[in-house]
Amino acid sequence: MTFADGTVHHKKLDGNSAIRNAQRKVVEFNAAAAAAAVTAAAQPRENEAETPVRLACGHVAFITDPKIVGWLSVEGEKAYYCRTCEADQVITAAGPGALRTPGT
Ligand SMILES: [Zn+2]
Repeated sequence: MTFADGTVHHKKLDGNSAIRNAQRKVVEFNAAAAAAAVTAAAQPRENEAETPVRLACGHVAFITDPKIVGWLSVEGEKAYYCRTCEADQVITAAGPGALRTPGT
């Protein structure tokens, strides 16, 4: 019986050790993820300044001028020159949602 108790006790120690190792791995992973996030934030994305706008004619225009992008956030109806139509068209959507085709 003494031998059996000793075996159970030994298994408990192994279990605790395994949990400690797992916790240490989680901490290491979090540190690596945080370092990766900082690196990603420091490098600007290629299309960061491009804001898509959907025009009343159905075409999508990409605005790269930060001043015009800021103007888009102002309330009210706006028009933007559509190069395909060669005419001013009312902006119906701006931002990532403008890339979605209406009705889908
Ligand atoms: Zn157009």
